[in-house]
Amino acid sequence: MIALITGSSRGIGRSTAVELSACGFDTAINYCGNVEAARQTAEMCRKNGVRSEIFQCDVSCLEQCKKMIDDITDKLGSVDVAVNNAGATDDALFIRMSEEQFDSVYKTNLKSIYNISKLTVPAMMKKRWGRIVNISSVAGLYGNIGQVNYSSAKAGIIGFTKALAKELGGRGITVNAIAPGFIETDMTDGLPDSFKTQALTQITLKRFGKSEEIAKTAAFLISKGAAYITGQTIEVSGGISL
Ligand code: NAP
Repeated sequence: MIALITGSSRGIGRSTAVELSACGFDTAINYCGNVEAARQTAEMCRKNGVRSEIFQCDVSCLEQCKKMIDDITDKLGSVDVAVNNAGATDDALFIRMSEEQFDSVYKTNLKSIYNISKLTVPAMMKKRWGRIVNISSVAGLYGNIGQVNYSSAKAGIIGFTKALAKELGGRGITVNAIAPGFIETDMTDGLPDSFKTQALTQITLKRFGKSEEIAKTAAFLISKGAAYITGQTIEVSGGISL
């Protein structure tokens, strides 16, 4: 079976690709700019005895996604599992946030999920089996200062997930979301120490999360054990909301 993991050159996407390869999935590694990092992810997957290929594509662009899905189908076969993980931030207080900042974050985080789902769901429907896992965020559940663009896109993912789950439930396709909390990746690396110290006080488990912990949750949602779970958003945040 073929799993596409968007944004899997680094961070949560890379860990998810490696985890799914350990579960026996051939992996399609999508990246935007970091070809060398994508190659490394594919190599890590191949060590688990599966096929793995890299595919460059800006997932916010439908045309580029069309070409990527055609390439994946030619090289590996049709996509059975789509993990919509690619995402980016461009923070600013709302009063200073430009239209460009709003639109680009919306497109990378939310429109990308429309693009990939639009192009992969038809083959899943034909097979009457498929798994879609969308990576949202606690920012989408609770909102973050300086992230009106990101928080609204991540909240949109939750509505998208529920609506699509209802449409596809009769076809053997589940659609779920994960809302990670503060996970140690490049995305959070650059945040000021003062912000990290303050964030830590709000996390019940008193530590930041690891990308592997999100990967394990994604693998569970794709596994047989989760066959009766759909339309849900699983918060993996060390209890940030308690
Ligand atoms: P990361 O380390 O910054 O990695 C981002 C990944 O997304 C990279 O592989 C990057 O590719 C890819 N990407 C970015 N824009 C893209 C585009 N337009 N088209 C295709 N690929 C693109 O991020 P991360 O922390 O692993 O985050 C992964 C997901 O989890 C994101 O959706 C993020 O919003 C979400 N999340 C993260 C946290 C956290 O604390 N880290 C918390 C909640 C939610 P290149 O390497 O080629 O640039």
